[in-house]
Amino acid sequence: MIPSMTLLRKRNGMTTKAKPDRIIFLQNDKPQNVRSEFKEITKGSTFLYEKEHELSHVLLEAFSEMAFLVYCFEKTYNRLITNPPAEVKDYINQLNETSTIHATNCIIEFHSTALSTYFKTFLILSKTVLDKIVPFYSYIFSGTLYQFDKKGKKLLDSIKRSKHVPKKDQMIELIEGAKSEWINSLISLRDQYVHHSNLRQYKNFWAPGEWVGSRKFKGLSDFHKPMVEVAGKEVDALKYMLMIKAKLVIFLNKFLLFCEFTPGRRPKCFLRCDCGYQFAKKIGEYPKGGKIQFFGDLKLEIKDQEKRYGVIVCPKCGDKTDTDLDFWPQICIRKEKNLHRIADT
Ligand SMILES: [Zn+2]
Repeated sequence: MIPSMTLLRKRNGMTTKAKPDRIIFLQNDKPQNVRSEFKEITKGSTFLYEKEHELSHVLLEAFSEMAFLVYCFEKTYNRLITNPPAEVKDYINQLNETSTIHATNCIIEFHSTALSTYFKTFLILSKTVLDKIVPFYSYIFSGTLYQFDKKGKKLLDSIKRSKHVPKKDQMIELIEGAKSEWINSLISLRDQYVHHSNLRQYKNFWAPGEWVGSRKFKGLSDFHKPMVEVAGKEVDALKYMLMIKAKLVIFLNKFLLFCEFTPGRRPKCFLRCDCGYQFAKKIGEYPKGGKIQFFGDLKLEIKDQEKRYGVIVCPKCGDKTDTDLDFWPQICIRKEKNLHRIADT
């Protein structure tokens, strides 16, 4: 049983910034599933600040939902083979009673709505998982991308232009290699389904027309398994889903390592809340000269005085945004009883 997780969500609908390891999984009887895969993904990356926990929570949520579909597909497939519902048996009896050879230019397809729904939704959610990795890149390298657009082309262009990415060539090689190996064909299938509302590449349990009348079926195991045509080649649909999930784990792990979430990093500093509220703006070359212009007093929670890490509480939505205490002119950080403020002097 794949674990379901309780989602820690704030009342305003925004995702929580709790560490993913604090998320409680329900029915956690086999935690080696998603939990251990997520450990593989984040192996070697240390998330220190609230924004980073939020990003990893969002990635965990997308990955769990994608993994859940693979699990449902496999479970339903096994159930249909070992314990098919009555209508499957009736259908097979009807086929077995047919004595004339069926047309050779068609196939007999046994449609399982559950399986095709799981497969098609899996394509959409695999792309969602790829989308959720991009904000990690933008966060660490001050980028503005939030999705895996144009099969990752925009991300690649951004990395090529960036002056901040340390292992640029290797990171480009990772993405280009994965694109040609599995990402491009995955997104082509997903686009085919999303933009045309059908997926002719996917075939349910099926048998060639000439089998009908020339052989007897005992069950669904006598049919071909559900298949999908990937880049001109027919592959077992379940094996394809398992392969993509395994590739994603490796890809996400390497991608995060290139983003260098190393221990001992300084906190990032943002001048804007995720809701769009602007805390302050830089005038001139601040901090090398120039100054900070405030749009009102800001409530500050000091998280770690030694690391000079704090969070600003947004006056508009109440959400907390990471900040580097050293970014603000010290004269502007005032302590009033137990409340810290960043304020205009
Ligand atoms: Zn806000």
